[in-house]
Amino acid sequence: GQCITACPVGALREKESIDYVWDAIEDSNKHVVVQTAPAIRAALGEEFGLPMGTRVTGKMVAALKRLGFDKVFDTDFAADLTIMEEGHEFLERLKNGEKLPMFTSCCPGWIKYCEHYHPDLLDNISTCKSPQEMMGAVIKSYYAKKNGIDPKDIYVVSVMPCTAKKFESQREELQSTGYADVDIVLTTRELAKMVKQTINDFTSLPEEDFDEVLGESTGASVIFGVTGGVMEAALRTVYEVATGKKLKKLEFENIRGMEGIKEALVEINGKEIKVAVVHSIGQANKLIEKIKAGEKFYHFVEVMACSGGCITGGGQPYVNDKIKLSKDIRKERAKALYNEDKAKKIRKSHENPMINKIYDEYFDKPNSHKSHELLHTHYKKREKHPV
Ligand code: SF4
Repeated sequence: GQCITACPVGALREKESIDYVWDAIEDSNKHVVVQTAPAIRAALGEEFGLPMGTRVTGKMVAALKRLGFDKVFDTDFAADLTIMEEGHEFLERLKNGEKLPMFTSCCPGWIKYCEHYHPDLLDNISTCKSPQEMMGAVIKSYYAKKNGIDPKDIYVVSVMPCTAKKFESQREELQSTGYADVDIVLTTRELAKMVKQTINDFTSLPEEDFDEVLGESTGASVIFGVTGGVMEAALRTVYEVATGKKLKKLEFENIRGMEGIKEALVEINGKEIKVAVVHSIGQANKLIEKIKAGEKFYHFVEVMACSGGCITGGGQPYVNDKIKLSKDIRKERAKALYNEDKAKKIRKSHENPMINKIYDEYFDKPNSHKSHELLHTHYKKREKHPV
């Protein structure tokens, strides 16, 4: 993602995205809904002079409401939904001993890389859409129906730490309702620009809450923004669903931190489950080579294309060299997310009451026919780029 943001064409595209969003907000026929990824709250404050690692969830929501969005939802809700779908998909593969290791699918940088360079692994990737796409599909189906709004009049804006998410939102296969799941993606920097255009002092805004129902989330989902977080969230649910027992400790320390390749062993019903977590494409490649050579075996692997995970994505605030030399920005931003996880009353995706409500009212159960229609997708082989 970094090269796209550094190039002048990327800069032009950034300007256009903001204009489209303002147009949609001003259009009285459009119902404009915004969702924000977990990593945004960990870094947006830096754009307004707050110290690195300051969590600005409540102020970010207050700012979005003042910009004129009709609803402010949390991509974290969809991250919980992803865990439900992906966790059950994993248990199914484990039972059948098929398509293992299963790789996570929420990072479009990793997915596209795999389509180009490891198409033989495409069946191993979870069929779950990424959280932003799941959220878009839920907004244009469940939410639209419940509120009597025609999905054609809904405009979904995602705020993402990532420029690869812009590409992802344009994929033809991510239009389950007949409309694009997500209409437009803004980066964290672009959101900061919109805020600066309209709000005098971000830092003095009150703390406000996301809107119901798609704003309710757990500690498991907020750590999606940091390397190891998706795996930790998945293990919290997979373990409890499969064993019927409560985890004594929710933190999986072995897969936290900034080491390139992290591993953990988890015993589930007498079977040892091996998981691995990698961040950056270079580390992913190393691990894949070992797996292909038969040197390593895992049941489940999390891959994030950015070092540290989404907290350092290509759309996050720029950091000057002096700060980069004095501290590890990955660790500072990660702290904000782990603190939010700790502060949440509910820290496991399967205990999110709104997730249970949406299954009761709409999806029936994880991996149901309807879930497959709206929340899952497929990947395709692409030609290798000439070197
Ligand atoms: Fe985007 Fe990087 Fe996060 Fe992947 S790891 S989703 S490329 S920000």
